[in-house]
Amino acid sequence: MNKTWKERKLWNEKMEVMSEEEMRALQWRRLKKQLKYNYQNSIYYQKKFKETGLMPQDIRSFEDFQKIPLMTKEEHRRVQQESLERFGHPYGLITCAPIEKIIRISSTSGTTGVPTLYTLTQHDVDVLNEMHCRKYWRAGLRPGHIVLQALSLSMFTGGLPLSDGIQAMGLCCVPVGVEGGTKRIIDFFLLTKPHVIIATPSFGEYLIEKAPSLIGKEAKDLGIRWFFCAAEPGGGIPAVRKRLREGFHARVFDHTGGGHAFHGICCGEEEYRGMHFISPDHCILELIDPETQKPVEMIDRAIGEMVFTFIDWEGGPFLRYVLGDMLQVFTKPCECGFPGIRFKILGRGDDMLIVKGVNLYPNAIKEAVSHFQPKTTGALKILLDQPPPLVKPPLKMRVEYGSSLKQEEREPLKEEIRKYIKDILRVNPEIELVPPDSIPIQTGATGKVKLIEMMKKDR
Ligand SMILES: [Zn+2]
Repeated sequence: MNKTWKERKLWNEKMEVMSEEEMRALQWRRLKKQLKYNYQNSIYYQKKFKETGLMPQDIRSFEDFQKIPLMTKEEHRRVQQESLERFGHPYGLITCAPIEKIIRISSTSGTTGVPTLYTLTQHDVDVLNEMHCRKYWRAGLRPGHIVLQALSLSMFTGGLPLSDGIQAMGLCCVPVGVEGGTKRIIDFFLLTKPHVIIATPSFGEYLIEKAPSLIGKEAKDLGIRWFFCAAEPGGGIPAVRKRLREGFHARVFDHTGGGHAFHGICCGEEEYRGMHFISPDHCILELIDPETQKPVEMIDRAIGEMVFTFIDWEGGPFLRYVLGDMLQVFTKPCECGFPGIRFKILGRGDDMLIVKGVNLYPNAIKEAVSHFQPKTTGALKILLDQPPPLVKPPLKMRVEYGSSLKQEEREPLKEEIRKYIKDILRVNPEIELVPPDSIPIQTGATGKVKLIEMMKKDR
């Protein structure tokens, strides 16, 4: 007997519980078709295949496929620019669908350089909406729930595409966006009474702290039952998750995937086990060594730079695209029972710092400092006097102490944090403790908090 929609645990049971073997076969079928499609419809891909000496029909195995050269963001920008010059628009070389079929342009969340564009047809938008439905349905959202969307809306892949997906699922979306500022978010919060909020974890932490003075209520009395983190690593940091869970009395989910084919969401358990990769039928995921660019085998706990290929995609189907994120994958079955691999986003490859030969991600430092909450507020800045990745030791950082910390406890706390970071990250930092609220929440275009500050030179 067919289950009613209310009983369904998954949005698309057929795809979401497909066996690994069946999924690989489906991926392969779709990949073969996609390679042919990209070759036939894009000057850029034709050139790429010709350069390798391989035609789509020559790709007979996954190993063959991995011979196709990687595409970087810089290359993407170059091709966009060349299209602009040759055709008067940025799609001429790389977009595979005819221009009149393109109905949406999204952009990545990068804060530097010319934005890289994602072009989508109605088919692609439907696929995206499906992915958002899979994520939120898994987390327990159902029609009738009201979702306040407080991420960046302007062009960001997690902005409008996400709101559209929420609506496609039959939920009510309040797309207030972070650009309007905190007051506007709170006003709409009070007016629309959402059950769900989607925001950066740092905005959540800010709201927990400020709600009593801004609204006259504790955040946990606002009626939020789900907090979805995105755009920052905090949703995967145990101390941040705990603070959001307790601060809002809500279930906390970490999720990713906006305007492209790579999507994931963590399971609702208290313990964080990474995000389940929920879009393998539209995205082939690979890992590479960021130094040598050689493939890294997808075994349990493997770490590498993420490479993705869109399959069953029409507009701008990327082929072996390196987005710059470092991932760790987990292939052992998850206790929650959902199949497939899980992953943790470790940071962006270009965020990496090197201190005395040790590779270090700002997110790992954020995680270490958050470990000391409430003795610290969790807010910090890494102070650099030269552009990354090379850091002249010692690594300098400014950390906010918590409002309840006594003066005599400050020195011991500083030492505790230093020792902890030295033990777990193998870097000995120089820490300056500063009062709560003295580190401004400085966000980029997407609402992500910037952890690094360049120090001004004295001379
Ligand atoms: Zn799980």
